Amino acid sequence: MLGFSLPTEPPDDLLIIGAGPAGATAALYAARAGLRTRVVDKGLTAGALGMAGQIANFPGLPGPVSGVDLLRRMREQAASFGAQFVEDRVIGVDLRAEPKQVFAASATFAARAVILATGAMARAHPLPGEDRLIGRGVSYCATCDGAFFRDREVAVAGNTDEAVEEALTLTRFAARVHLLSPGAELRAAPHLVAELTAHPAVTLYPAARLLAVLGEERVEGVRFAVAGEERTLVVSGLFLYLQGNAPVVDFLGDQLPVGDSGCLSVDENFQTAIPGVFAVGDLLCRHLKQVVVAAAEGAVAAMAADRYLHGRERLRPDWAK
Ligand SMILES: Cc1cc2nc3c(=O)[nH]c(=O)nc-3n(C[C@H](O)[C@H](O)[C@H](O)COP(=O)(O)OP(=O)(O)OC[C@H]3O[C@@H](n4cnc5c(N)ncnc54)[C@H](O)[C@@H]3O)c2cc1C
Repeated sequence: MLGFSLPTEPPDDLLIIGAGPAGATAALYAARAGLRTRVVDKGLTAGALGMAGQIANFPGLPGPVSGVDLLRRMREQAASFGAQFVEDRVIGVDLRAEPKQVFAASATFAARAVILATGAMARAHPLPGEDRLIGRGVSYCATCDGAFFRDREVAVAGNTDEAVEEALTLTRFAARVHLLSPGAELRAAPHLVAELTAHPAVTLYPAARLLAVLGEERVEGVRFAVAGEERTLVVSGLFLYLQGNAPVVDFLGDQLPVGDSGCLSVDENFQTAIPGVFAVGDLLCRHLKQVVVAAAEGAVAAMAADRYLHGRERLRPDWAK
């Protein structure tokens, strides 16, 4: 690829792009399997887990921990087995080269196998106030954060299956759920729409265009427009399911096919269309975006990468190493 420097070191066995729970767990399993493993990540607080407030549903934790603390522990555990972490931003790849090339802002890396684990944070046009209030009332996951809004009023923005299911989840906690649908119709499965519209704690606002999240320290309300008229709702939480959370694939160019939704396809071992290239975690547009899911996928992909690198037919269980 033109414009990028050549790698200065011999190729790694495995290069992982992204060190959230998916990438960090992949690094743990790969390093324990004896693979020369490098992880390139742009920062501890740049991904979903790094910016999550309290995590209370990851198994085995003595109590809630901050997302940053949990992530730091995951990375330290992987590093203790020899995984090498580099802080840098990946800006391009050549995945069909042998070895595969990964171009970061300040260096070029080469590896025989690659795991993509960059998450799903990208949204082309965040709302005014959205970035500032993430973790302070702005959330993308009712399953994660719904319990923090017991007896409060919340808004949900979106009209997909995910948005409607998450709105229904919130009715278990919130006093009232205001669903702002960007279109005149909900684009969810009929049984979900029927359940939602019949629910006494839900108010539906069709064709509502969300304009801003209000509040300085915490979410205090939302401003939206219906038929050209601006309105304000007083709410403590805003759950966003607009344009999904687009997967972070900008650095891939056109090397891997993505569907209309921008999501990569993988097989049961999380291998993409290119042999030796795997993808895991929120990047795959999972319906259930959770730390435990991302971590589990990272483990499966690392073992599949090990098998790819050693040409083995069957997965060797971790306990047999
Ligand atoms: C506010 C909030 C609260 C949440 N609460 C919970 C909860 O309570 N429980 C739960 O289970 N889940 C929760 N989640 C969801 C959970 O955090 C995600 O499902 C999980 O972090 C996904 O893991 P991942 O590794 O796929 O992606 P991420 O955690 O997003 O990690 C992706 C990593 O890739 C790196 N990266 C991205 N692009 C590049 C690049 N070009 N170059 C180098 N590195 C790059 C980022 O720096 C980041 O470290 C929450 C999410 C949010 C946003």
